Amino acid sequence: MASNILIVEDEPAIAELLAVNLRHAGHCPIVAGSAEDALRLIRDILPDVMLIDWMLPGMSGLALARELRQGARTKSIPIILLTARSEEADTIAGLDAGADDYITKPFSPKELMARIRAVLRRRAPQLTDEPVRAGNLVVDPATRRVTYHANGIEQELKLGPTEFKLLHYMMIHPERVHSRSILLDKVWGDHVFIEERTVDVHIKRLREALTPAGCAEQIETVRGAGYRFTHRQGIPAA
Ligand code: CA
Repeated sequence: MASNILIVEDEPAIAELLAVNLRHAGHCPIVAGSAEDALRLIRDILPDVMLIDWMLPGMSGLALARELRQGARTKSIPIILLTARSEEADTIAGLDAGADDYITKPFSPKELMARIRAVLRRRAPQLTDEPVRAGNLVVDPATRRVTYHANGIEQELKLGPTEFKLLHYMMIHPERVHSRSILLDKVWGDHVFIEERTVDVHIKRLREALTPAGCAEQIETVRGAGYRFTHRQGIPAA
């Protein structure tokens, strides 16, 4: 699946090289020339992964990673630090600051892509293409199909693209309450221009789409808090 990847790198040649390789791998790269620019961009769009150069003018990459880890909205963005330093003490400092991984310059694009895939698998399983199961229900991001079994026969459910993403996100984070603003950030990817009641509209459509499989009630409303996907079946929505 295409990921929004924010590159924070002040050397234009390196930023461009990274962007070209990421685009080639099917991702959507965005470039920020400084930590300050990156923080401004993140206010509008939450990236799926960040590649952060250690040595930046102004705020350092390390300080940026630390700040992102402290923000409720940004704390789970996967971060890979790009560093020219390979001393052990430095890499430990990077990981302590909250980076998921680091890569030492110069690196091969192939190695970088492998690191990106690895952090996505660990921190954001919704961005990998592996099918997710809950009871009878299977959501397969690779084929964009939602299926269930009835009397031993596989049936397919028809979901719109937003309902698909919503269900997928909630299924890989089950039994947890997701606020409308979190769902907007995670599913729509942009929390600024969409009203929160949009989420309610798509939840309603999702429940309707899940009704033939008997799973509509697994999308629970948690009053005053948001929505939850539960593995328990047959429990009425609160
Ligand atoms: Ca630099």
